[in-house]
Amino acid sequence: MRYYSTRSASHKAGYAQAALAGLAPDGGLFIPEEIPPYPRSVLSSLGSMEFPDIAFETIRPYVHPEIPDAVLGDMVRDAYPFGAPLVAVGDRFMLELFHGPTAAFKDFGARFMARSFSYLRRGESKPLRILVATSGDTGGAVADGFFGVQGISVTVLYPKGRVTPLQEKQIAGLGGNIQALAVEGSFDDCQALVKAAFADQDLQKHLALSSANSINISRLIPQAAYYAAAAGRAAVGKSDPGGEATPRVADNGVSGRQDPDRRDSALGSGGDSYRELVVSVPSGNFGNLTAGLYAKAMGAPIALFIAATNVNKTVPDYLADGDYRPRPSQATISNAMDVGAPSNFERMASHWSYDELKKSIQGVWVSDEATRETIQQVRRDAAYFLDPHGAVGWNGADQLIRQGGLPRCPLAILGTAHPAKFAEVVEPLAGKPPLPPSLARLEGRGAEGETIPNSFEALRGVLYA
Ligand SMILES: *Cc1c(COP(=O)(O)O)cnc(C)c1O
Repeated sequence: MRYYSTRSASHKAGYAQAALAGLAPDGGLFIPEEIPPYPRSVLSSLGSMEFPDIAFETIRPYVHPEIPDAVLGDMVRDAYPFGAPLVAVGDRFMLELFHGPTAAFKDFGARFMARSFSYLRRGESKPLRILVATSGDTGGAVADGFFGVQGISVTVLYPKGRVTPLQEKQIAGLGGNIQALAVEGSFDDCQALVKAAFADQDLQKHLALSSANSINISRLIPQAAYYAAAAGRAAVGKSDPGGEATPRVADNGVSGRQDPDRRDSALGSGGDSYRELVVSVPSGNFGNLTAGLYAKAMGAPIALFIAATNVNKTVPDYLADGDYRPRPSQATISNAMDVGAPSNFERMASHWSYDELKKSIQGVWVSDEATRETIQQVRRDAAYFLDPHGAVGWNGADQLIRQGGLPRCPLAILGTAHPAKFAEVVEPLAGKPPLPPSLARLEGRGAEGETIPNSFEALRGVLYA
């Protein structure tokens, strides 16, 4: 596969170059020259394939021939010992993306990224240094994904005092090849520091620097796999029993398969296909939704996406009137989505026109108050714990159902994080969510981030040390 920059078709690169550089030399994002369709044989068996096999089929054309099939096969098996269960909850499905080691969907991208970087850098003597700014979840997933990987070290910058204690342990509790810097500033400050580091020629000469933010194509592509897996299973009427870490309350009497009659009453009448899935995507930087659009373009049976945001509704506003107005972010309780200038928008808009995007995506936004009510209501009515991000996805779908704006198809909400990861918000509303093993193992872990002032000089000093 060849990739080119969203800002100029002349910056072509192969997978290795696009992935290792992160950003194109002109500041654009790398996009694939084409979005390859799934082979027919794959599409017809999506519903029965194992997740790693779907991941293999999804990723293969994007890394071919730089990552040989046999190597890719080992990578996806090693990266995804956990899957993405599609669990029936009330009148819809939850696609639970939080069964990885850091209990958020970013594990899917970060774990593949780490393995592919390690392979692409084989035989290099100069160690690679990955710089990443995080508001919480990205840092943990990237740190965990790269922990112990030979020849690669990671520096995570996070806003001091503004990530949860669990997130801080995930970022700053590993040690080894993972360096954690608590910056006396905001997430935007952390991002600005990372940008400044990439713009510094001396630093570039001194260190082999790479980024791991969600603009990186190697994080995006593997995420398309769980959309295809979910749509394939829904199309043949399959769902998964709640796994061990599923935050359902025991003995609730509500579980079981999705009941299509209830879907009917929830959605009113309509004549659309039953075989395609509607997917509600709680969105911030729009990497996840872009991956969904790739899956749909590859042929996964998806009717429509719901782009559900919190008050940071830059994209829903754009979908409403065609005018893209990025803005400063506002703090909310679904803080992994507090993004006012979503970086993947440039990628979406470069693949698809406004009219095409409007056909595939319905935008909607959800207030903190409605998010809280949804957490309470779903716990009460369906005995299921939502995290604040999943609750945004759930409530956004409800709003569109009420407006009659959804086709009559099965509906899946992406559960982007385990509710126990956001216990400070969830517990007062819905009681204490069960702690999954991935988070329970953090209990004895410390968090030793090094505090640095919000200054590039300080960051440079640390990187040169
Ligand atoms: C990162 C994140 C999101 C937002 O995903 P984007 O790809 O940035 O749109 C949503 N929920 C959780 C829990 C996250 O960590």
